[in-house]
Amino acid sequence: MPKQPGAAARTPVTDRSSIRPGNLGLILRRLRDDGPRSRTALAADTGLPKATISSLVTELADLGLVREGDPQRGEGAVGRPRLAVELDGRGVCGIGVEINADYVAAIALDLRGRTVFERRAAADVPALGAAGTLDVVGRLTAEAITQTRSAGIRPLGMTIAAPGGADPATGSITTAVNLGWRDVPVVAPLRERFGADVPLPPIAIRNDAHVATVAEYVAVAGAGVRDLLYVTGEMGVGGGVYNGGQPYHGARGRACEFGHMPINPEPVACPCGRVGCWETMVGLGAFLDHATDSGDIVRDPLTDRERRLAELHRRAESGDERTLGALREIAAGLGRGVALLVDAFDPELVVLGGYFTQFADYLLEPVQRAIDERILNPSTGRCEVRPSTHRYTSTVRGGAQFALEPVFQDPVGTIGRSPAL
Ligand SMILES: [Zn+2]
Repeated sequence: MPKQPGAAARTPVTDRSSIRPGNLGLILRRLRDDGPRSRTALAADTGLPKATISSLVTELADLGLVREGDPQRGEGAVGRPRLAVELDGRGVCGIGVEINADYVAAIALDLRGRTVFERRAAADVPALGAAGTLDVVGRLTAEAITQTRSAGIRPLGMTIAAPGGADPATGSITTAVNLGWRDVPVVAPLRERFGADVPLPPIAIRNDAHVATVAEYVAVAGAGVRDLLYVTGEMGVGGGVYNGGQPYHGARGRACEFGHMPINPEPVACPCGRVGCWETMVGLGAFLDHATDSGDIVRDPLTDRERRLAELHRRAESGDERTLGALREIAAGLGRGVALLVDAFDPELVVLGGYFTQFADYLLEPVQRAIDERILNPSTGRCEVRPSTHRYTSTVRGGAQFALEPVFQDPVGTIGRSPAL
């Protein structure tokens, strides 16, 4: 698995009180970032004595977090091959939950990133309101916990992600204009829905685009990308930035609200209260307004979004001029905004997510052209645009990965804090 965001330093921990937990985490991160390694290689990587490595590996194996993998023979080496140690963790998982304007989704990933649970439920969230939506979240979460536990997999943490400001300290969503929510408590009411007799793992709340960017970064970091711009098309438009391998969240965690850059030449009203925001040009609502009339089946929020948009994609494929015209409008607006952001952040790679991914065959080429033509210093190197490999699952994946991060810092403590099966 490629590198995670903000991975801690690779040097052994030397503070005596935290030597062992710190070094257990160090071994785990090494195996996650670089794949299976022999004990000898781990000793060389970390500077720890081989006897210490063996003892740490035994403790991690007892926790089910690592296992003996295939034998490895050094290059040109003769004699007995070394047994590699590899990440295991099939008995633990992180859960990511996404509240979007038109669906609620959940995924559980084990420590190696394998999907062990996945669901998406169409939901008209602005119409349902907070209580109705949290009922849906509660149902999906209960299903994720029940199914993983009955398969012998222990949830270590859960991240709820929503489109807007999230306050991790209070477990609330502060503002989510596309949901019509302001200061909505999420974590406490969700816990209440389970009652005291169902033990829950730690629950965190985060901005959806920030956790989605984690998943997008993990997907490309293995190829050496360190400077990434992610732009996702939902009812709103959001995204995130990695700068030199570190996520950029700003001083107060409010960075990357790209959707509200006032670049629409038409003074279209935005749910944020301003006019001419970028998302009024290229958000999913703008696309549906260009491509369809009210009452069209593709606007029904109770039908799964991917299926609805597959119908629009089919219309484009069949040459429907209205759909193709709408895609040209979106491509032009997207190119204009992305080129501005490329000038602002100078990324190596731009990844387009959400519905932009589903229409990548119509959007990618014009957006790439806009970047090539509009950026200020094209001679210093090309910035490539690609679609997300996760399509609509970036946010839930990033949430699950975020929920698993503590185990890579303190494996024993994190497992100790999560409820037993
Ligand atoms: Zn706005």
